[in-house]
Amino acid sequence: MRFSRRLDMIGVYLFSALGQKVRELRAKGLDVISLGIGDPDNPTPDHIVLEMIRALIDPNDKDRHRYGSDWPSDVFPRAVAHYYRQRFGVDLDPQNEVLTLIGSKEGIAHIAFAFIDDGDVALVPAPGYPVYSTAAIMAGGEPYFMPLRPENSWLPNLEIIPEDVLKRAKLLWLNYPNNPTAAVAPLEFFERAVNFAMEHDLLLCHDAAYVDITYDGYIAPSVLQVPGAKECAVEFFSLSKPYNMTGWRIAAAVGNPQAIRALRTIKDNIDSGVMRPIQFAAAKALTSSQDCVREIVKIYQRRRDLVISAFRELGWDIEPPKGSLYVWARIPDGYGTSMEFASMLLYEAHVAVTPGCGYGEYGEGYFRISLTYPDELIEEAMRRIVRAIKRKSKKNKR
Ligand SMILES: *Cc1c(COP(=O)(O)O)cnc(C)c1O
Repeated sequence: MRFSRRLDMIGVYLFSALGQKVRELRAKGLDVISLGIGDPDNPTPDHIVLEMIRALIDPNDKDRHRYGSDWPSDVFPRAVAHYYRQRFGVDLDPQNEVLTLIGSKEGIAHIAFAFIDDGDVALVPAPGYPVYSTAAIMAGGEPYFMPLRPENSWLPNLEIIPEDVLKRAKLLWLNYPNNPTAAVAPLEFFERAVNFAMEHDLLLCHDAAYVDITYDGYIAPSVLQVPGAKECAVEFFSLSKPYNMTGWRIAAAVGNPQAIRALRTIKDNIDSGVMRPIQFAAAKALTSSQDCVREIVKIYQRRRDLVISAFRELGWDIEPPKGSLYVWARIPDGYGTSMEFASMLLYEAHVAVTPGCGYGEYGEGYFRISLTYPDELIEEAMRRIVRAIKRKSKKNKR
């Protein structure tokens, strides 16, 4: 067999490698708690599941088992447009400005194939969700990493991107609330990014996976709230996190109609849509009461506070994040690299966290804890982490 060069270039998906280590220890009989992956542990709210069942057995819907193309079945795109109007005050044409995706990861990967040719550049945040850069590589281009740093509130500094890189750049990726740093971005930053994208003829791609997972009363903006954003921006909106629907695989790309059409053309040649009953259920989620999201968010906020109070017990100075499903924490001095720190926690506390280096060199010095695990597990994991670190620091002092 002779594999493609691109397969070598993209390597093993971070979470596959991480899961392997945990499986090995568990196979040896160790009780390892993983706080590694961001995948909601609670079930999808009942009214959404019931709508799926209704649509699945609806004898009047003769097309329910057929390919799930958007047209003429436009119930999901219309629901997305309705949601954007209600939630963000943004008007979308469901036919030309909304595209159903098989989860946003699918669209995030495929949009590269509509824009990136050999030698083209995608500007991607680092640390960041790995798909932005691997998709650029798979399409024949390359990522340019824009470092996110705490002194700049984890926002990329667009002004320092070199001119020669900008000339080759076609996509600008942003993601707020952010994975993995849990940072949020004010609308003014999106305004600057839209201006920047217009000035340099970039498609601004905003991954809004966590736009509805926010805490302490903070409400995150859509990039499309910026006047004129539709001229240069698309947003990836997902039902996965706010409605506990990661396994359902449904999301939408919204915004600039030319970019939406281009992504649709790529997808028409690769997939055949999302099963209709799933589209109906997702439409139900977006058009019914959003109380379920508030309940879901409350659970994460409680877990976030458990993690933060454990860190405070260790004397770590850490701000509670305003959004996302993560706590991103600095590794204290004396613990080596993020991989060494994560290994130490795995072997001494039997807790798996994600080392920052898994998100590239700019993630070094940090680790990520995911809040998508039951309260009891998080509490026990934090007890173990606190114990292991207190033990270590005593040893270090001797
Ligand atoms: C979870 C996640 C997604 C993937 O969402 P799906 O719609 O389930 O594919 C996209 N972006 C980021 C940053 C995520 O953390």
